[in-house]
Amino acid sequence: MGAEPAASASPGCFTLDRGAAATPRAGLLRTPHGTVRTPAFMPVGTQGTVKGLTPADLRVAGTQIVLSNTYHLMLRPGAELIRSLGGLHRFMGWDGPILTDSGGYQILSLKDRVNVTEEGVAFRSHLDGRPENLTPERAMEIQADLGVDIAVTLDHAVLLPASPEVVRDAGERTIRWTERSLARARELDTPTALPQLHFGIVQGGGDPDFRAEMASRTAAMACDGFCLGGLSVGEAKAETWMLTRATTNALPVEKPRYLMGMGTPRDLLDGIACGIDLFDCVLPTRNARNGMAFTHEGPINIRNAVHARDPRPLDPECGCEACTEFSRAYLRHLHQAGEILAHRMLTLHNVTFYQTLMAGARVAIERDAYSDFHHAVTHRYRNRAGDDAGGETSGDPA
Ligand SMILES: [Zn+2]
Repeated sequence: MGAEPAASASPGCFTLDRGAAATPRAGLLRTPHGTVRTPAFMPVGTQGTVKGLTPADLRVAGTQIVLSNTYHLMLRPGAELIRSLGGLHRFMGWDGPILTDSGGYQILSLKDRVNVTEEGVAFRSHLDGRPENLTPERAMEIQADLGVDIAVTLDHAVLLPASPEVVRDAGERTIRWTERSLARARELDTPTALPQLHFGIVQGGGDPDFRAEMASRTAAMACDGFCLGGLSVGEAKAETWMLTRATTNALPVEKPRYLMGMGTPRDLLDGIACGIDLFDCVLPTRNARNGMAFTHEGPINIRNAVHARDPRPLDPECGCEACTEFSRAYLRHLHQAGEILAHRMLTLHNVTFYQTLMAGARVAIERDAYSDFHHAVTHRYRNRAGDDAGGETSGDPA
């Protein structure tokens, strides 16, 4: 069952070329700073930078859109400062699309420093303990000041396990906060006077019926797209995808869906199969700094001694600078010596790997061959993951 189309703040930002509500989809997401071919992966630029990479590096890696964090930028350097310097695009030197999350999840992660009321979220800065607050209205004001292409409404996420009453209470509050966020967003302008897209967050805990209800009710509001929140928080993967399908089936077919904060290469392919268009995850960038490289045959850890004399590239099928210029032995040496080039090259490689994977998925969907692609990639990835596949986990997006 699909929800009725709702009036949109920016009608027609998305064109679906292939697919349906809960099947692999290929689309075009039009933003003020360019069009994104979906499915797409957003590297995480928490502090207004994807750690170690320049905007030119991101482009070469195949990146179309980056994610940044409202919570971190509001605390440092502050949204007003960024607005006064022309907005986040100019500030960070990236002229492509940017999506910011609303900060709700990261504030929640502060746990004992947080107090949620109907008005908003009061918390203490992780930087200096200063009292701060974020309301649905302020979340949109900050994102308007940043001038991002896609702003996300404030939600009330809950840490699981939680009782059904707590989940429902947070879901109902999220609906009210989404309404307040959208109402305020319509009154705001950006430093570049370009219109923003506004995505609402669908919560709903571990109950598929409640997830579907939340999706339908969020879809009745003037959202340009939808974020799926509160998934991959400890539940089994089969449950994650069951809940994802319950949500995507209840969302309008013609609007984009973004699965927040996960995952592994396999997660991305499984998410695409459930009708997801957009992803973000810290894995390719954070794990790179820990020495992990994703390859077509599974993840490897460059710290392992087995790579000490290996003249081969990280991934012979990858065209990135790390793979065309350097050996595993050299990259391992750089990592062991604490050289920043190791972090930079592994990050460049991992982002390239993710973007190549998504581009391949898009081509497969266009050819109506996604199922074969999905099976071939995951079969190979699983069977040849080798001796050091450990550490491939989703989690804390900081
Ligand atoms: Zn590479």
